[in-house]
Amino acid sequence: MATAKKATHFPLLDNDDPQSSGMHPLKALTKRITEAYGPSGYEQGVRELIRDEIKGFADEVRVDALGNLIARKKGTGPTPRKKVMLAAHMDEIGVIVTHIDEKGFARFAPIGGVYPLTLFGQRCRFANGVVGVFGREIKDSTATEVTLNKLFIDVGATSKDDAPVGVGDPAGFWRDFSDLGNRIVSKAMDDRIGCVVLIEVLKQLKKSPHDVYFVFTVQEEVGLRGATTSAYGVQPDLAIAVDVTGTGDTPEANTMAVQLGKGPAIKVKDAGMLAHPAVKNLLAETAKEAKIPYQFEVLTGGTTDAMAMQTTREGVPAGCLSVPTRYVHTPSEMIDFNDLQNSIKLLVAVLGKQIKLD
Ligand SMILES: [Zn+2]
Repeated sequence: MATAKKATHFPLLDNDDPQSSGMHPLKALTKRITEAYGPSGYEQGVRELIRDEIKGFADEVRVDALGNLIARKKGTGPTPRKKVMLAAHMDEIGVIVTHIDEKGFARFAPIGGVYPLTLFGQRCRFANGVVGVFGREIKDSTATEVTLNKLFIDVGATSKDDAPVGVGDPAGFWRDFSDLGNRIVSKAMDDRIGCVVLIEVLKQLKKSPHDVYFVFTVQEEVGLRGATTSAYGVQPDLAIAVDVTGTGDTPEANTMAVQLGKGPAIKVKDAGMLAHPAVKNLLAETAKEAKIPYQFEVLTGGTTDAMAMQTTREGVPAGCLSVPTRYVHTPSEMIDFNDLQNSIKLLVAVLGKQIKLD
């Protein structure tokens, strides 16, 4: 890894403490986890935040070779107990410096699915806390023709020598969390909101007949890499990813049935996998029993860690519970607060009962 010129540590944000401002504790947790720095491959800072949050709630916590954080909660049922794996990815999309020009402007490559349209005028933040602005070449380009190679990052330098970042330095989007009441907005809801769901389920799950593995994965945005290796290690009997999915409820949106506020979305299919029908039914039946609103999801583009878990070793029945999210892969991803709470409730209900997949 190239060393950033002034890199010292992963600064926790020193902005106001949401707890003291009377913010709902679940919103405060979401703010802390989504605002944390952690592009794919550089998840150390957010992993330490999560490890602190779950301290004392699991029987075993370990970090594997790729950096996945694996917390095991032992079941109370007779052995052999089913192994249930929940996965949510810690990494966020980002950019990485490819070179610095003579005037100190940085050029970059994407980390994961970064859309050029979402960048101009936005900000990013490097591991050493340096903030940059995405600028774009104006000459010889029309307003609509925005491609990544026509964009650059302005870090406030005046020359190559006084640039506070260097080649190989990664950055994530940088925007504050916003509380709109029943809707909350932040960068990296994909998939820090899944991490928030796993943290809360681990805290609220009193007991389960099954051994439950809460896996906070790395490098999902660049190829489901952490889920691939951690599922191989855990060898689950059942796997459920928790991630975000798009919606069809904004003006002139792509046709999609999922809407904010209608409950967590139970995945049926996406571009990478078909959910195992028994897992889909388990989630839907449990939601019905517990009177938790839910909706079904068919997503035409994109996939999740469930795809990797499903095809590990000789295969695992897998599914995915998605938090409906608007403006995915932009610095302002919006979710519904009730959908978040109902996602937590549904998984606590599923894990609390004797699971039979038929
Ligand atoms: Zn995701």
